[in-house]
Amino acid sequence: MKTAIATVSISGNLEEKIEAIAEAGFDGVEIFEQDFIADARSPREVGERIRAAGLELMLFQPFRDFEGLTGDLRRKAFDRAERKFDLMQDLGCDLVLVCSSVHPEAAGGIDRAAADFAELGDRAAARDLRVGYEALAWGRHVDDHRDAWEIVRRADHPNVGLILDSFHTLGRGIDPETIRRIPGDRIFFVQLADAPNIPMDLLYWSRHFRNMPGEGDLDVTAFMRAVMATGYAGPISLEIFNDQFRGGMPKAIARDGYRSLVNLMDEVRRKEPALQIDLPDFPSPAAPEGVAFVEFATRGDEAQAIAGLLGTMGFTRVARHVAKDLELWQQGDIRIVLNAETRGHADTAYAASGTNICDIGLSVGSAADTVDRARALGTSAFVQERGAGELDIPAIRGLGGSVLHFVDEGLADVWQIEFKTTATPENGAGLFRVDHIAQTMSYDEMLSWSLFYTTLFRMEKQPMVDVVDPDGLVRSQALSTRDGSLRITLNGAETHRTLAGGFLADSFGAAVQHIALITDDIFATGSALAALGFASLPMTGNYYADLAARFDLAPERIAAMQSMNILYDRVGDGEFFQLYSRPFSGSMFFELVERRGGYDGYGAPNAPFRIAAQKRLGRPKGMPRH
Ligand code: MG
Ligand code: MG
Repeated sequence: MKTAIATVSISGNLEEKIEAIAEAGFDGVEIFEQDFIADARSPREVGERIRAAGLELMLFQPFRDFEGLTGDLRRKAFDRAERKFDLMQDLGCDLVLVCSSVHPEAAGGIDRAAADFAELGDRAAARDLRVGYEALAWGRHVDDHRDAWEIVRRADHPNVGLILDSFHTLGRGIDPETIRRIPGDRIFFVQLADAPNIPMDLLYWSRHFRNMPGEGDLDVTAFMRAVMATGYAGPISLEIFNDQFRGGMPKAIARDGYRSLVNLMDEVRRKEPALQIDLPDFPSPAAPEGVAFVEFATRGDEAQAIAGLLGTMGFTRVARHVAKDLELWQQGDIRIVLNAETRGHADTAYAASGTNICDIGLSVGSAADTVDRARALGTSAFVQERGAGELDIPAIRGLGGSVLHFVDEGLADVWQIEFKTTATPENGAGLFRVDHIAQTMSYDEMLSWSLFYTTLFRMEKQPMVDVVDPDGLVRSQALSTRDGSLRITLNGAETHRTLAGGFLADSFGAAVQHIALITDDIFATGSALAALGFASLPMTGNYYADLAARFDLAPERIAAMQSMNILYDRVGDGEFFQLYSRPFSGSMFFELVERRGGYDGYGAPNAPFRIAAQKRLGRPKGMPRH
């Protein structure tokens, strides 16, 4: 299987695009004419540069408004085609994409178009070139791949084939199963794009909102399953028009693209086991079983403050690392590591961001398989020098320099081997597991992060919700395993004035802002916390008066919630209780929750009131943290 990406899909000048595409692992490129025209080098030099980067120049695009013209216009269309053929020969590219005409004077007629392509095929054949025909979703007479195929079939020329584009098929709601009846050797090229499900003008949607397979709502997998069933053996290429990507970092976007393609073909392989798909073998995605540990890089007063906070939340300091400056705090199955090392990753993370969550450990079925899958998707393994007696816990570099470790059954005794027990955990406050991890990032990084998690693991996306911060909007995307064993929320800030945005500015990049821990009985937890001296985030009387108006709740229950600063949400029969710590080390915080009756959300309706309460306690706007 050869992978490719259109130069238009990523930002930068042609040189930056070529570098990013080669580095991400693609086999080839589609050169978009605009990118070529903007470059100062000759066609021959551009072609040589692309090949020197180890890339094949697989497609030249687009050639517009060709078929269905008559008289002088038709003659001119063929002249234009000859000029493009000259250029392609200089570039060293043998395939051109002709998209269906939107010319106001194109006459229509399947046979007329077929005759045009038969003649174009002869002219291309004379130069050893090939022509691929693509139905644009907004083409004047041809807007459906089935009609484009009929034209190619009737043109009946070995140098004329079909080009399929998932956006044009799926965006118009055409059943991709219809592709299965096309002979695979008549399909010359396949372009892929996904898109979010937003009702709007097709052309505008296509030019601005396409995204990588898996990032949107189109069934690109069904499309690709049908394509592969035809016996198609040509390149699989991404053609993404997206404003956000055009403003993104070329290398990061190219890596996302590569990850999405490999993941897509892996999914196709698993769903179509009868097909031979030329893709290296690597493990299927699995659902993580939960969070094994959360590690803070922290020092001095801030480390002491966190230790104090953990104590008032019912955690026990249970162990110290045998060789390093690491403390382990535990309650139920929740393990929190405070890392004060002055070497290695935690030190680097601390130097960059101050106190922060520098590492997360996930419990998985097989740590080795998880790393193998991550690497097949283009992620690098994380390796750090090990001290004597330390175990080799498989890890990867997540996005933005973050680190994820994977702990499986074989590594379960790491806490006994690497740590010296100093106390046994007490029952504490009844918290027993991590409910969710909330990462804050800039809005334009959200697609990358959700793609990262949903390709590596079997996790699903919930619909994006808007969280209203008094100073701006934050978008929140929840990802979770089907049984809720791992829940991650991605919060995308667009302005630094929001609580999330301020945190982002302080931490110099995407980072974990809060950890939510779960209890079976929020009221018992609340009482235990009060006895331990926990300082909860104070909520207003107005909040509780409003709760009484919104929900049918007994006054005693509301009074109990108010006395403990517990927030409440309900969806159907599901109830959600939340209790927040005060912010620490800038604007990090803990959230303590109870879910009842299958509540599957994160209390988004409460976010404006929680954020306002945090801001009341926080430093004045614009003041630095240190
Ligand atoms: Mg296309
Ligand atoms: Mg939360």
